[in-house]
This record gives sequence, structure tokens and C-alpha cells, in this order.
Amino acid sequence: MKSKILEILENKGNYVSGEEISKEIGISRAAVWKHVKKLRELGYEIDSKTNEGYKLIRSPDRPVEFELERMLDTKIIGKKILFFEEVDSTNNKAKQIALEENDGTVVVSEMQTSGRGRRGREWHSPKGGVYVSFILKPNIPPEKAPQLTLVSSLALVESLNAMNNGLNAKIKWPNDVLIRGKKVSGILTELSADMEKINYIVVGVGVNLNTDQNNLPETGTSLKLEMKKDVSVNLFLKSFLEKYDSVYQKYLDGDINQIIKLWKDNSDTLGKNVKIIGINETYEGLAKDIDENGALILQVDNKEIKVYSGDVSLR
Ligand code: ATP
Repeated sequence: MKSKILEILENKGNYVSGEEISKEIGISRAAVWKHVKKLRELGYEIDSKTNEGYKLIRSPDRPVEFELERMLDTKIIGKKILFFEEVDSTNNKAKQIALEENDGTVVVSEMQTSGRGRRGREWHSPKGGVYVSFILKPNIPPEKAPQLTLVSSLALVESLNAMNNGLNAKIKWPNDVLIRGKKVSGILTELSADMEKINYIVVGVGVNLNTDQNNLPETGTSLKLEMKKDVSVNLFLKSFLEKYDSVYQKYLDGDINQIIKLWKDNSDTLGKNVKIIGINETYEGLAKDIDENGALILQVDNKEIKVYSGDVSLR
């Protein structure tokens, strides 16, 4: 009901009488009033004038369940979305429920109190950003799980560039998305599996959406800083989840080669001289390619080495 009322108010763009709304959706005027009250509590600014009715002045910039439900057009991803104002980490929340959830369930939070990067590093997760975890259950052997990092970074980079082509967002192997060389997002893929079988994969994506520079490391940026305007979190989530849905379906259809090709087209790493810092060793060389499981192929002198994403940093 709430989303129907919003739709009417949005389409009209002006005052709509309670009677008109009540007729259009078949509820009493008192019920319309109750829903409007609820919408106001959720942060929608709705003006009301005697004899004229209701007018939507402003929508809140918060991820809103029924807004996304009505906007989202996907087959697998986000058929169920769980919303939180604050969590320790969306990946933790997702892992707690993953066994019972279907493929494609999504956890969204407006803030994380202990957001993580790889190898236990911190991911700053203040308000203004958006933190999303995907519960995935593809039927693949565990060693292929890193492919989901490719799927996720490709979906994110494509949705950012579709929102604004001038952003020129690029993927830094293995798990970051950059704009002008600065991190706008980090991806953390976690796996639960037996020897041969995956129980679930949880992919967490932290995005600096409307985050201010003083809430970010110097090496980070946000969409707001890059676009010089606020970004609607619901529109961003719609664009990202729909793109994720289409890339993930392609993946499930076995089209990993196409995904890798597109990933390479959006890579900030390939063709560059890079330094790989591992736990015990450091390599410097040319980032030549990635293999079908997402490992980086590095040319060091006249040798090729394969680097796995698990425990290295790339500079
Ligand atoms: P590196 O880029 O140093 O190789 P990484 O890919 O190994 O990092 P991640 O696990 O992706 O690291 O992310 C953690 C790092 O990202 C932190 O150490 C910090 O430098 C940086 N960082 C943390 N939070 C944010 C944020 N919100 N925006 C941008 N960068 C961040």
C-alpha cells in the first residue's frame, strides 16, 4: 500500500486528494492517512493541505525496503533483502543466516561497526556509505570461488560507469574498485565449503557513496566527491543489484570467459608494472593477465608467476 501511495504521489508531482488515492487503490481515506503517517515516520516529507490533499516533497536518502522491492527488476539477486541501520559487519550477518537462505539473498546496512578488509584489515564503514553482502550458492568446486570476486567487481564497475560514464571506474586486482586511482569500494569474498562442495559464498561490498573525505583514508574517494553531488542510495542499489543479477546469471550459464574478457576491459592493473607484497616474499613485474580462476599472471624477468589473491597486497 505504501509503495502504491508513493507511486501515485510521485507520478502526480502535485497535491492529490485523499479521496482520489483511496479510490485508486481501494482503501478508506482513514487508511490512506495512516499510511501517510507511517511514510512520514520513515522520513518521507509529505505535505498535506485541506481541500487539496497530499504532496510528496522529499524522499529520505536511506535504503528503504518497500522502495527497493518495487523498483528492483531481478531474477536471483535481491529476491530477499535484509536491511539494517547498523551491524558489526554485513558479511558476519550474512554468514549467520547463509545456510537457511536461498541463492541471491542480500544484506544491506547503512553502517558497520567492524567492517573488514582482507587479512583482517579494517574497512572504514561510516554513515554515508553503503555496505552490501551477497549470499551465493553456485554449484561450483571450492577452488573456483575467487571467480565470484571477478563477478562482483565487474558488476560494480559496470553499474558505476552506467550511472555516470565520466567516472571511468576501474578494477584493481583482486578486489578493489578505483576512480582516478582512489579506492571507492572494496570487496571481501568469504567461503564456507567441504573438500568438494561449497556450502555458501558471501561477498561483501563496501561502497563509499556519500562519504566525505574526512571520513576516508587519503587513498579513498566517494561517489559524491567524484560526482560533486549526493547519490541516491536506492537508485544506486537498484543499478548495482540489477547489474549483479545479470552478470551472475551469465556466470551460472557458464559464461566465465565473457566475464573475464569484460573484467580485463575494466582492469586498472593489467599492463602495468606492479609490486606484489606477500607474507614471505615480494615480487615486482609486469601484470600480464589473469587466469580463469582470477589468479594474476606476473612476468618477472623472463619467468611467469601465478599470484593468488589470498594473501598478497598489490602496489
Ligand atoms: P591494498 O590496497 O593496501 O592492497 P587490500 O586490497 O589488501 O589493500 P582491502 O582488504 O581491500 O585491502 O582493504 C583494506 C584497506 O583499504 C585498508 O587497509 C585501508 O587502507 C583501505 N580502506 C579502508 N576503508 C576504506 C574505505 N572506506 N575507503 C577506501 N579505502 C579504505
